[in-house]
Amino acid sequence: CGIVAYIGHREACPIIIKGLRRLEYRGYDSAGVALLNGQLSVYKKKGKVAELEAFISDKNTHANIGMGHTRWATHGEPNDVNAHPHYSSSERIAIIHNGIIENYAALKTHLQQQGHEFHSDTDTEVFVNLIEEIQKQNKCTLEEAVRLALHEVVGAYAIVVLSKDEPGQLIAARKGSPLVIGVGQDEFFLASDATPIIEYTNEVIYVNDYEIAVIKNGNLDIRTKEDVQQTPYIQKLEMAL
Ligand code: GLU
Repeated sequence: CGIVAYIGHREACPIIIKGLRRLEYRGYDSAGVALLNGQLSVYKKKGKVAELEAFISDKNTHANIGMGHTRWATHGEPNDVNAHPHYSSSERIAIIHNGIIENYAALKTHLQQQGHEFHSDTDTEVFVNLIEEIQKQNKCTLEEAVRLALHEVVGAYAIVVLSKDEPGQLIAARKGSPLVIGVGQDEFFLASDATPIIEYTNEVIYVNDYEIAVIKNGNLDIRTKEDVQQTPYIQKLEMAL
């Protein structure tokens, strides 16, 4: 239901937690974060963002790249396992997702036949395993695998994806669910709406349907799912903090 992600020079986790709190008004049943710092660590909990905060208080959350999610369950009851982020079977790729993947059951059966193991009841875990399988089959970059996966999923999504094998990179995409990019000084923010972003920067880009944003090495590249590069339209927000 809510997405926040950060890549830059600051500590990601406090920015993400604060951002999730700002998105609390959207309603949710569970919350989680994924942090990339050599390791790809996922922490998630049923309940309030405050419960997630308590859970991670004794964990090493040091990272400059990360993403967080508040979930409004559509597939699978609200519990710790069904909370986002979700790992792929190899635990090398993680995803957060708002929306619904309508053809998840058929994709899941197919992926199970290819050896993927599932731990949750969500449609989202199918999405991240599809990305992993496509990357394996095509021996391609994560970016390419995400793009190809978007041609196979039916439904609505705003997603953010991180991979342990391609650190220093955030990939996001949307169709039907909102997604905003905040452009800072050598740092980028991603969120479902601008409220988690405005205290850091007033320059935002509203991602369009069927676009994929790749942020790496301090650069933002936006392409359509047909791989056509787009010129991002940066809007200046004037909002009271
Ligand atoms: N369909 C996903 C799930 O049930 C995402 C729900 C959401 O948008 O929070 O886990």
